[in-house]
Amino acid sequence: MTSTPPPQPPVQLAQTVADAERRTRLYETFLNNTPDLAYVFDLQHRFIYANSVLLQLWGKTWEEAIGKTCLELGYEPWHADMHSREIDQVVATKQPIRGEVPFAGTFGQRIYDYIFVPVLGPDGEVEAVAGTTRDTTERKQAEQALQLASQRKDEFLAMLAHELRNPLAPISAAAQLIAMHNADQERLQRSIEIINRQVTHMVGLVDDLLDVSRVTRGLVSIDQLPQDLKTVINDSIEQVRPLMESKQHRFSLNLCAEHVSILGDHKRLVQIVTNLLNNAAKYTQTKGSIELDMRVQDGQAVISVSDDGIGIAADDQPHIFELFAQAKRNSDRSQGGLGIGLAVVKGMIELHGGSIHCYSNGIGQGSRFTVYLPSILSQASAAEADNVARTSAQSNQTTVLVVDDNIDAADMLACLLETLGYIPIVENGSLSALQRAQQTRPQVCILDIGLPEMDGNELARRLRAQPETAKALLIAVTGYGQAHDRETSLQAGFDHHLVKPVNLDALIAILAAKFSPH
Ligand code: ADP
Repeated sequence: MTSTPPPQPPVQLAQTVADAERRTRLYETFLNNTPDLAYVFDLQHRFIYANSVLLQLWGKTWEEAIGKTCLELGYEPWHADMHSREIDQVVATKQPIRGEVPFAGTFGQRIYDYIFVPVLGPDGEVEAVAGTTRDTTERKQAEQALQLASQRKDEFLAMLAHELRNPLAPISAAAQLIAMHNADQERLQRSIEIINRQVTHMVGLVDDLLDVSRVTRGLVSIDQLPQDLKTVINDSIEQVRPLMESKQHRFSLNLCAEHVSILGDHKRLVQIVTNLLNNAAKYTQTKGSIELDMRVQDGQAVISVSDDGIGIAADDQPHIFELFAQAKRNSDRSQGGLGIGLAVVKGMIELHGGSIHCYSNGIGQGSRFTVYLPSILSQASAAEADNVARTSAQSNQTTVLVVDDNIDAADMLACLLETLGYIPIVENGSLSALQRAQQTRPQVCILDIGLPEMDGNELARRLRAQPETAKALLIAVTGYGQAHDRETSLQAGFDHHLVKPVNLDALIAILAAKFSPH
């Protein structure tokens, strides 16, 4: 005889029904408001539940979808088969399984990450298989983008190490030669030229790196002064002429007759044109041709640099202005730089309100880069526009304290200052420098920031605090050129912040502005 449960009092039954309904409402609310797909299969692989977002994805109503299998709902056969096998596996093993699958529904082609779990009945057997699916398309895309960026960064760092190491070999060989006492004057001179050339090359690479980091973070500000474009172009040609001559390039220059003036920054404009000419020279074989045209068109100054060099493949053209982008070329990379020049050029042109375009018929067909800049009507003559005043400082009355723990660097700078007519005093430690400054009252202190006992910023604060040097001109000379480094040094009391290796023209100009020749 089977025992039947005792009948429940009606109040308790009502309470149980109300509890069950409340729970159902709660689950329904939750399941129909999550962005994830939620569903349940019976053991015959038919959907017995699908939440709203899944119905939406299928573009079907509950009545149209429930009771159907994946295949009946229009999944591709391989996809429907895969889920059928997975459902059977979950039933057999009572273990969840996880997968990832692309699917094209009403939301388009997306990637989904799903998990199927067994729903166990009171007897411990699987009575259904429940699943949840998450759309991971954006995450996947972000992961891929990150992976690509990281791969590009790794390639870039490897190339950077290579590019920075390259000039070191000739520099070190030249230094060894100079150290040999029997080297003749001509060899010494050649060694010095090699060192200068290689250092200039390295400085160029490091400048590019700093520029690109500033440009991409929007930290570059430019002068807004009338600039004569012809002067800009001539200054740029001067910089690239040695490379063009060494490769025996035929160079033609076609400038329009009228005076073209634009509002901008002379140094940056020269940098733009030099970069384009330099690339033309780098990527054009010996005895090739390079042409620079400048004209005015619809109120815009148009500068075009063309060459008949190696050209750019159609695939590479859309990416050529991207950071670290370089067209595929020989592994020796004998011609390349860091792949950031054009990214900087584009950034600089945009700061001037202009744009740049590249055109090539393909590999071996030459290239043309065209720059558009808004031009202005200017009264300024070319000479007035080129208002870069070059002053040389010569004052035998000005004492300059140089503090650097790198003895060679300090001595070299002192040597140069002396040649310019200043009285240099060298100290290699900050504590001794502080004392020396009290005794000698220098009008100028040039301080390295990375000093061991007390850093240059602290030294500057103390120099400002002691009456003997409170009013001295303080110049930071440092390897740290980021914006926040400048800010810290200015807050510490420095008047100027120069990045190593010091641009002598800049230093001379700073000194000359304050201490004009007797
Ligand atoms: P890089 O330091 O490699 O020269 P750029 O940013 O200046 O970097 O140029 C990016 C890439 O564009 C170069 O590596 C080269 O592949 C291509 N490129 C630039 N200018 C030219 C040109 N005039 N002819 C052919 N290819 C060029």
